[in-house]
Formats: sequence, structure tokens, C-alpha cells
Amino acid sequence: MAAQGDHFLNATLPVKRKFIKKVAGECGLRVTSENRNDPTSFHGQGRAIDVAGPASGMSKFFKAFVPLAKNRKGVRELFYDPEGGWDNFVNVGPIGGHGDHVHIAFDPPP
Ligand SMILES: [Zn+2]
Repeated sequence: MAAQGDHFLNATLPVKRKFIKKVAGECGLRVTSENRNDPTSFHGQGRAIDVAGPASGMSKFFKAFVPLAKNRKGVRELFYDPEGGWDNFVNVGPIGGHGDHVHIAFDPPP
């Protein structure tokens, strides 16, 4: 996982977006929101994706990205209320408003 984590960390934003969508597809999820005109969110910077689908798939997707959030490997925000939430590499628990989709935000390569 370490090498995989570094791979994600060092990937460009387009590569990160592509990888996230691939994992979402593997979990049976679809993208419900990506880039939008929202200066208060990473969605406004092209750095966030929302995915939704069956709860089991959202749980699987969330768990797949926890190590990257926890270990500072490029995942800046990860929110899915039934499983918890990660903000700035800190486990913040459920933040509300993310019961029906998973939100993931990511950093450009360091
Ligand atoms: Zn979002």
C-alpha cells in the first residue's frame, strides 16, 4: 500500500481523477458531481468528486481511500457519514450532509 500510496500522491490531478473514477466504477458507483462553480469547496478547484450508488459500494470506495487520507498520500477530504470522515488527514467522524454520496477531494502532486 505504501508504494501505491506514493503513486497516488505523486500523480497529476487528471491522473488522480481518472483513478478515482476507475475505483468508483469497480465499486459499482457513478460520479454525481465533479467540477462546479463553488468557490467554497474543492469542487470549484477541480479537486473534488462525488460518487454514489449502493451503500455497500460506497462503503467499499470509502474504505479504499482511507489509507491515502490517513497517511497524507494526496487525499485531502473524504466524507461518507455512515463510515466517518477525514479532513486534512485527521479522522473527524461524520460531518453531516454526506449520507447518500461519498465526497473525495485531492491535492496536486507535491
Ligand atoms: Zn463533494
